Amino acid sequence: MGIPTLDDLAVDGTTVGVRVDINSPLGEDGRLADDARLHAHVGTLQELLDRGGKLAVLAHQGRPGGDEFATLEDHARRLGELLDHPITYCDATFSADARDAIADLESGEAVLLENTRFYSEEYMEFPPAEAAETFLVDRLAPVVDAFVNDAFAAAHRSQPSIVGLPMRVDSYAGRVMERELDVLSNIDDTPRPRVYALGGAKIADAFDVAESVLERGLADEILTSGMTGNAFLAASGVDVGQPSMDAITDRDATAVEQAEALLDEYGEKIHVPEDVAVERDGERVEVGIDELPVDAPALDVGSDTAAAYADVFETAGTAILNGPPGVFEDEQFAHGTREIFGAATSAEYSIVGGGDTAASLRQLGIEGFDHVSTGGGAALRLLTGGELPAVEVLRE
Ligand code: ADP
Ligand code: MG
Repeated sequence: MGIPTLDDLAVDGTTVGVRVDINSPLGEDGRLADDARLHAHVGTLQELLDRGGKLAVLAHQGRPGGDEFATLEDHARRLGELLDHPITYCDATFSADARDAIADLESGEAVLLENTRFYSEEYMEFPPAEAAETFLVDRLAPVVDAFVNDAFAAAHRSQPSIVGLPMRVDSYAGRVMERELDVLSNIDDTPRPRVYALGGAKIADAFDVAESVLERGLADEILTSGMTGNAFLAASGVDVGQPSMDAITDRDATAVEQAEALLDEYGEKIHVPEDVAVERDGERVEVGIDELPVDAPALDVGSDTAAAYADVFETAGTAILNGPPGVFEDEQFAHGTREIFGAATSAEYSIVGGGDTAASLRQLGIEGFDHVSTGGGAALRLLTGGELPAVEVLRE
């Protein structure tokens, strides 16, 4: 892979700064509402502690001014339950209190430092050399012997705790980072036919993935659904109705033109829905394309589309999922997601990217994927053939 991993680090007795991404949904009470991201990092943290490390763990939660901008106290409590080692919480990130807490660590102990984004520079983007000169890096670099970046989900951000520390400290990829890069950087080696299911509400992102993987010859078939599918439907010349059109153009004013360009160039590989589902009098109603337009937004693909897409997955070598096929949060519109994502597990090899995509699988109880990415933006960057700042600095 070309970057150092935990296999290259002599951990015992050393003080290791570990960046994780445990940014999580919080409940009304401000406590963790979902701890999937904490679970993801347990392997890396446990291994470093078992190997005798003293861990200074860095993480962020929410964004300044946002509802979920919060301390990491509850994260520390929950990590303590998940790890077989003590982990304390320190309400400082890099001040003397934080550095004292790090100096007091014994082998096999960890401290979770306060939300890095309580410090304004951590929410800005810098080139690595400038990030290396920020206060956080300047204060923490001298008190750790090594740095491990396991925060794949934040790897697309060029921020001090991500790209600055590795400029000053010997740095390694953690196990989550290693596995994500291994899978998402090597899609060109996975079995064919390679089928991408692109749905969801972030239409522009779905177009970026489609364009990139079609241009690079990585995709054999693309199954479009969700709002993305509605945009392709409109681009194929079907009048989907004003409510769906408004939803599409609210997201991306030129969505239909972009979808048209993709259909012109790669039409034979792009599947477009043949029916949709809308809500009428509180009920799910399916509408075939010959019955369109309708005066309600399409919130799911219809049963025929779901069955046709499921068939494509039956013979797929690789399934790559990004964006749910419908508004799965509402049981009436979860049918497409359940059928299409359920069928994707029958591909020889299957990869899931996207936060809501992973959440839909958890909600619907669909299991059996080879890799479920922890990263939204970072996974997207790799799926479109881009580079990650966090990884570039580990390489150097
Ligand atoms: P991810 O987080 O996996 O990248 P997105 O954020 O792009 O996925 O999209 C997820 C959201 O898309 C879900 O909340 C889902 O309700 C919504 N969605 C899916 N299909 C539709 C649709 N037809 N109309 C409106 N929203 C949709
Ligand atoms: Mg999302």
